Amino acid sequence: MISVFSNREDCCGCSACQQICPQSAIVMSRDEEGFLYPEIDQTRCIDCGNCIEICPMIHKGNYKKSSTPRFYVARHKSQAVLRQSTSGGAFTAISDAILRQNGVIYGADYDEDFHVLHRRAEIPGQRDRMRISKYVQSDMGDTYAQVKADLQEGRKVLFTGTPCQAAGLRGFMGSSPLTDRLYICDLICHSIPSPLIWEEYKRLLEREKGGKLVSVQFRSKRHGWSRANSNKGFLFTTDKTTEIQEDDRFYQLFFKVGAITRPSCSQCRFTDIHRVSDLTIADYFGIEKYSPEWFAPLGVSLILVNSPKGADFFDQCRQELLAEERPKEEALNEQKRLREPSQFPENRRLFWEDYGRFGFEYVIGKIE
Ligand SMILES: Cc1cc2nc3c(=O)[nH]c(=O)nc-3n(C[C@H](O)[C@H](O)[C@H](O)COP(=O)(O)OP(=O)(O)OC[C@H]3O[C@@H](n4cnc5c(N)ncnc54)[C@H](O)[C@@H]3O)c2cc1C
Repeated sequence: MISVFSNREDCCGCSACQQICPQSAIVMSRDEEGFLYPEIDQTRCIDCGNCIEICPMIHKGNYKKSSTPRFYVARHKSQAVLRQSTSGGAFTAISDAILRQNGVIYGADYDEDFHVLHRRAEIPGQRDRMRISKYVQSDMGDTYAQVKADLQEGRKVLFTGTPCQAAGLRGFMGSSPLTDRLYICDLICHSIPSPLIWEEYKRLLEREKGGKLVSVQFRSKRHGWSRANSNKGFLFTTDKTTEIQEDDRFYQLFFKVGAITRPSCSQCRFTDIHRVSDLTIADYFGIEKYSPEWFAPLGVSLILVNSPKGADFFDQCRQELLAEERPKEEALNEQKRLREPSQFPENRRLFWEDYGRFGFEYVIGKIE
């Protein structure tokens, strides 16, 4: 009898196992923390082992390349793009290169209720919705199968997501020649918060302000772009508010309390200089120390070029970017998630016990 994982720390929730299953015997179900895990219907399972073979948490080497990346500082040339991007707008330049070739983009979007999920984009308007980091684990749905279908149609595809999602796609695609047209861009990822806590937070904001949420935005640049200020300025409006509202309690739960991220993040296999992707994008925090002329209050990107394929692709993106190669030591100094996984606080279990017994308002009240 097959089981894809035994401890929750060993499942990143990418859903590659569910999508590869030839019997459709796997469903992704939410646990009490709101994270998705595969469940196998043993009456349908034929013990083929595909799910285990491709799992990015189990696969030897976790699909990481052996090559060492080249590191670039970069900034989009358009001020408007910088204002609408998390960092220096690298994603827009990268995805524009795909759109120019009639390709397809996959990335994290919101649905009408601000659930975070992966979607497909073929035009700039759909792509623009993927901009701005959403600090919630996105639901992959059948994204990998859609990527494969687009590749089979002869389209070029850019997939963007967390490193574990990128690795899930590598596992799903295997050594298929279709991957010649597939470009993978991951993020340096701190760790990924719970969709359930995000739901609770949205409902709390609605109760406090009245009305239904009509806009949400992590990582606004209201307080400028810097390590100290970028994680302030979560903005939202409801249909009853007349002005844009600001709140930072979700950030506090994420970064200060630290108890709301996925168990597997503490055992992340991807906090490494050796990447799963062709390109990796992130914030170039700390650039002012190494090269002050590159600092910009609207944001600066770090881009890792991870392979010859990534280098060719990066050349196609550069027309919209100002970019310069930098020594790797800068990023290694500044980016903990190129070296080690995030550590959970000792009281993580207590947080979830309190949440289960007393509810969300109690646990969020404790941080105020
Ligand atoms: C959960 C999370 C943790 C991060 N941790 C770090 C970190 O520790 N250090 C660091 O330097 N950078 C981190 N980043 C990356 C950074 O916040 C920016 O997303 C990145 O620099 C791209 O900025 P941009 O201006 O090029 O792109 P933007 O135009 O802002 O595009 C955002 C990109 O992020 C993707 N994305 C957004 N939300 C999600 C999500 N929930 N799941 C998967 N993909 C998503 C979109 O598909 C898109 O490709 C993190 C991002 C996320 C989502």
